[in-house]
Amino acid sequence: MKKKKIPLRKCVACNEHRPKKELIRIVKTKEGIVEMDLTGRLNGRGAYICPDMECLENAIKSKKISRSLELDIENDVYEKLRETLREEIDKRENTFK
Ligand SMILES: [Zn+2]
Repeated sequence: MKKKKIPLRKCVACNEHRPKKELIRIVKTKEGIVEMDLTGRLNGRGAYICPDMECLENAIKSKKISRSLELDIENDVYEKLRETLREEIDKRENTFK
C-alpha cells in the first residue's frame, strides 16, 4: 500500500505543526474580508490555527493573524472569529462523543 503524505500546517499561535484537517483556516478574501474557512475552499491568503480558544486568544493578542494575513483586523472581526471557533469546537467535540 502506498502511504499518503499528510499535509501539515503550522498554527500561527503555538507554532505547532498539525495535519491540515485538524487546524482551522482563517482566510483573507480578495475583497479584504477575514473569515474562518471551515470548508477549506475559500480562495485567498490563509493562516492556520488550532481548534483551541487559547491559540486564538494568543494569536489575537500577539497580532499574529493580522500579520500573516497582512492587514489590520477590527475587534468585531475578532469577535466573529471567536464565535465561529467556539461553534466549531462544539461541533467537533460532539462528533467524537
Ligand atoms: Zn496552536
